[in-house]
Amino acid sequence: MSFYAAPISKLIDEFSKLPGIGQKTAQRLAFHVLNTTQENAQELAQAIIEAKEKIKYCDTCFNITDKQCCDICANTKRDSEVLCVVQDPKDVVAIEKTREFRGKYHVLHGAISPMEGIGPNEIYIKELLLRLQDDEVKEIILATNPTIEGEATAMYIAKLVKPLGIKVTRLASGIPIGGDLEYTDEVTLSKAFEGRREL
Ligand SMILES: [Zn+2]
Repeated sequence: MSFYAAPISKLIDEFSKLPGIGQKTAQRLAFHVLNTTQENAQELAQAIIEAKEKIKYCDTCFNITDKQCCDICANTKRDSEVLCVVQDPKDVVAIEKTREFRGKYHVLHGAISPMEGIGPNEIYIKELLLRLQDDEVKEIILATNPTIEGEATAMYIAKLVKPLGIKVTRLASGIPIGGDLEYTDEVTLSKAFEGRREL
């Protein structure tokens, strides 16, 4: 049973469903909401609803955006000949922060993982191959995570892309094995780009 009135225990319950939020933090957040102004609470609720309603995948690269074509794909100053393939939209942000990469992206939304029942068709690989048909892309940089799943995904894509005569590179080591691109510091990530090797 809950010691709180139903609306507050419902709020605690919702917060505790968020990643990395335990019961205690959920309670703290719920009480923060209670103590904040009506206006602030409304803004928080509205931000959640709006993000959910307006954010979708870019038609081209599958990064998250509120437009049909994301700002990076639409930017004519960026190099369309180099595509960086990442697992997650958060990886795009990590790479953008390095200011090292001037090409475009392709977001897979996951990695091949037989253990979790995720095959090549469950992530955006078909869409990547489709993009490569127009001959514009000269190099793809496989920037999947240095985990078993990330490596397997990179190898799988390399096998499909190399016969097309497109240069395939993989980020250099330096990113800790088993690590997440998203949590790699900017200097390490820049160096990994510079030292990328051809597969
Ligand atoms: Zn895009």
